[in-house]
Amino acid sequence: MRIFNTETRTKEEFVPITPGKISMYVCGPTVYNLIHIGNARPMIVFDTFRRYMTHKGYEVNYVSNFTDVDDKIIKKANEEGVSADVISERYIEECKKDMAAMNVMPATYHPQATQEIDGMIDMIQSLIDKGFAYATGDGTVYYRTRKFKDYGKLSHKNLDDLESGHRSEGHALKVTGNNEKEDDLDFVLWKPKKEGEPAWKSPWCEGRPGWHIECSVMSKKYLGDTIDIHAGGEDLIFPHHENEIAQSEACNGKEFAHYWMHNGFLNIDNVKMSKSLGNFFTVRDIAAKYDLNVLRFFMLTGQYRSPLNFSADLMEAAKTSLGRIITAADQINFLLKNAPAEKILDSEKENAEKIASFTEKFDAVMDDDLNTADAISVIFELVKFINTTADEKSSKEYLEALKKELLELTDILGLKVETKEELLDADIEALIEERQAARKNKDFKRADEIRDELLNKGIILEDTRQGVKWKRAD
Ligand code: AMP
Ligand code: ZN
Repeated sequence: MRIFNTETRTKEEFVPITPGKISMYVCGPTVYNLIHIGNARPMIVFDTFRRYMTHKGYEVNYVSNFTDVDDKIIKKANEEGVSADVISERYIEECKKDMAAMNVMPATYHPQATQEIDGMIDMIQSLIDKGFAYATGDGTVYYRTRKFKDYGKLSHKNLDDLESGHRSEGHALKVTGNNEKEDDLDFVLWKPKKEGEPAWKSPWCEGRPGWHIECSVMSKKYLGDTIDIHAGGEDLIFPHHENEIAQSEACNGKEFAHYWMHNGFLNIDNVKMSKSLGNFFTVRDIAAKYDLNVLRFFMLTGQYRSPLNFSADLMEAAKTSLGRIITAADQINFLLKNAPAEKILDSEKENAEKIASFTEKFDAVMDDDLNTADAISVIFELVKFINTTADEKSSKEYLEALKKELLELTDILGLKVETKEELLDADIEALIEERQAARKNKDFKRADEIRDELLNKGIILEDTRQGVKWKRAD
């Protein structure tokens, strides 16, 4: 497997620290709102990486945090007149629902910054003890950027350029009260509480951590001092990941991460989708129109490092393409019901031998820095092979082998191609009945859960006077 490492700017052969195991940290969202589909890109891309590496036999320890203390969360809490944790807990729950609907597997651990404050205080203290950080008069703690010799190694920036950038942007040394930074390039590790903000006691002042220290601490706690892979969107390279390296390597005296993977932006009209620009669609907006399987498919039509432009037309095209794969799966299931022979026929032997070659081709393109775009092309080759070689005369064994291959490859990409009819007959109708029973017993929580679960599977319930009706979201 070759991975493009942002730090070396080359594709490198992946060699794990421990044979057969991968430790991986993916920076997660700040939870103050429903996630938009830009935020969904790293979730889908790195979940696909995880699934692929699992398919190759690795045991992947996958950690992804929730940033649950932040100015934007506090602002939203003040607007609603509730505490910050009401906001963050609400949007963590909503985010987990979106992840499930996009078939993104839950991480091995989903740490939350506010639960890890002690570890942050310890790391900051250790940085102060080693001379890499200092507290100012009001209790703000800064990282002494120039002291870390490798600063800029990830983003390929040098300190002098950074400094002149600061000056030309008008960031003169901000001296306010007794909060003096030694150097413009120093960044915050701990900041004092302001009125109405959540705060924790610390040796320096009552306050809260800076954003960068959170990930250094959570990565160390759940995965150790040195990890295999650290990942996130490319906007995180600088300053977030650069600062994480400075903190972790100065504190631990060891290399922080062996490989740095960054996904390109999801754009609209070639501009990054972001909350601040207002040019975004939430995952929920998309779910109202499409099965999120289609969104997942769309995200994987590009290689993860390339920018990906979102448009209504491309979503329609994704829906049609995915539909072709689903139709092939349907067709096999249909043929399987009436297959004339159990065992493989002599006339099928040659084709049967070809089936495994699709996995080989698939693996070869995925091994090249997770080229999901080419992997999807391999799946279409398989679909074509199915459409041309499977028919009413095919044996059960041959059809089963085709089906297994198709499901294996689509499953690595996290795409669900089982037919909706199968889901409906077996599970969904039972769930509708269970929901009716729950409502009778006034267990509205369970009833709502079932409605949400069905919604995730693309089934919309309508309560009418004639009883419950359902329809498929298409
Ligand atoms: P945030 O909540 O803004 O910190 O973002 C959470 C994750 O989503 C980070 O890994 C970001 O890099 C990523 N992200 C945010 N917007 C986009 C976008 N438009 N395209 C791709 N990734 C994004
Ligand atoms: Zn992070």
